Amino acid sequence: MAMLARLKDTMKRREADVVQALYADFRKPEPEVRLTELFPVYQEISHARRHLRSWLKPHRVHGSLGMFGLAAQVRYQPKGVCLIISPWNYPVNLSFGPLVSALAAGNSCIIKPSELTPATSALLKEIVEETFPRDLVAVCEGDAEVSQVLLELPFDHIFFTGSPTVGKIVMAAAAKHLTSVTLELGGKSPTIVDATANIEDAARKIVWGKFSNNGQTCIAPDHIYVSRSQAPALVEALRREIKRVYGQSESQQKSGPDYCRIVAPRHFERLSALTDDATSRGATILEGGARDPGQNYFSPTLLGGTTPQMAISREEIFGPVLPIIEYDDIGSVVDAINAGPKPLAIYIFSHDAAVREDIIRRTSSGGVCINNNVVQFLHPNLPFGGVNNSGIGTAHGFYGFKAFSHERAILRDRFSVLRILFPPYTPTVKKLINLTVRLLG
Ligand code: NAD
Repeated sequence: MAMLARLKDTMKRREADVVQALYADFRKPEPEVRLTELFPVYQEISHARRHLRSWLKPHRVHGSLGMFGLAAQVRYQPKGVCLIISPWNYPVNLSFGPLVSALAAGNSCIIKPSELTPATSALLKEIVEETFPRDLVAVCEGDAEVSQVLLELPFDHIFFTGSPTVGKIVMAAAAKHLTSVTLELGGKSPTIVDATANIEDAARKIVWGKFSNNGQTCIAPDHIYVSRSQAPALVEALRREIKRVYGQSESQQKSGPDYCRIVAPRHFERLSALTDDATSRGATILEGGARDPGQNYFSPTLLGGTTPQMAISREEIFGPVLPIIEYDDIGSVVDAINAGPKPLAIYIFSHDAAVREDIIRRTSSGGVCINNNVVQFLHPNLPFGGVNNSGIGTAHGFYGFKAFSHERAILRDRFSVLRILFPPYTPTVKKLINLTVRLLG
């Protein structure tokens, strides 16, 4: 509890430095730093401090009739020494968020932040060194090579946030020591806008969810499926909203203070290649499309006419390009979602409860958010995580605490009569065993 309070104190003291570091790394706007980097960590800390006593309390569990005379309880114990490997897109949130859960559960930790945000990673190290004894929390800066050296060590738990490709490398390394893992991965989160959706409202929320952090958000809407009847209105509303938020002209958008940059040339080139491949095969740019490699600048872009064969329809976009796909039948959308790997999130903009339930029942994803997007991350009592390709295990609040804890089963014999079933298996014992199986099984 004291360590959590200390982390919050240091972060509060260093807020201006956090803002500066994230600006240096990819021109992240200050309000976005406050809302998406600082607030989630502060909330995790307050929530954990408020509930930790009750989470930690050993809880008694009832047994079946056959467990008569046995007292049972579950106790959470720290797993031990944990490794947190974090990505660059929300470097503070996704390093310190898991750290809060790890500390709440009583562990010590090594954090390996991303090499793509060097200013923020160096600051994380400073904050950690100012706050914690070195044998409780340490930061190891570096790239994949450093990560792989760490992965050779026999940690008690590894909490990895990043791409599915690297997630597989982490899981293979963890398997050598049978270390448990939490994998918070990515993928393509589809957004459905059906015929009953409030288009203005959907456009407003989608522009925020997609273009904040320049689309570099694991749960950003990756692409939109829109009912054909609503498509022209949605495209118009998205265009208007992009201009209202980021600027009417291309130059206003580029010089505006509220739009950050692609983190590195490698990702700028990846995004350019995805977009060029799509347009060379017949997709059209409905809005935006402006780029400046000198600044890793990519304007908010809407794409029409993409097909499943294009790379942009298969790879996670992770940037400010939003394909809009028209549909006639919601069944075809469900089939398209089910044909790909299970996404981290599915967003449904619809005022038809039957349609929403049908989509939820017939698909699988880490989470679902209805008539909004991205905000599910901030709910303190919801588990946050993926399924299969989008992740293993969950984070946040109690679920984060659980990820870093061993649920230990403690059983105490008070006056059980199980011994009547022990060998030698005389005819009477056999009868009793048969009776037990028949009556209690
Ligand atoms: P990444 O997988 O490239 O890197 C993540 C971390 O792994 C970094 O610290 C990096 O140094 C390290 N790493 C890279 N290659 C490695 C290797 N070969 N061996 C060991 N470690 C290695 O991911 P990224 O580009 O930093 O982040 C983007 C990805 O993260 C996207 O797929 C996104 O969807 C996902 N993501 C998921 C969540 C979530 O909560 N589920 C949150 C943010 C980002």
